[in-house]
Amino acid sequence: MPFDDDELEEFYRRIESRTEAANARPRRRRRSVPPVQFTCPTPEKIAYPSLAAVTGAILAIAGQSRSRPSLRSYECVCGAWHLTSAIPRPPGSR
Ligand SMILES: [Zn+2]
Repeated sequence: MPFDDDELEEFYRRIESRTEAANARPRRRRRSVPPVQFTCPTPEKIAYPSLAAVTGAILAIAGQSRSRPSLRSYECVCGAWHLTSAIPRPPGSR
């Protein structure tokens, strides 16, 4: 036998401590948040990533409600698209 019991035990201990050290290494977590972005002035609003997404949302809402709410989409300074129910009044109407 190449190893006696004591040697064998030490051998296992060495491997164990190595494995622990490897597991103890701090792992970097990936952040999914984009690095730089303008602060959204209306964070309470739902942010849609694209015009297509916000348009889809408008169509979905318009399809659900009988009284068609006049929703408009606009691109925010935060880079996302938001919905707004603000109705632009035609000039001259009262
Ligand atoms: Zn915004």
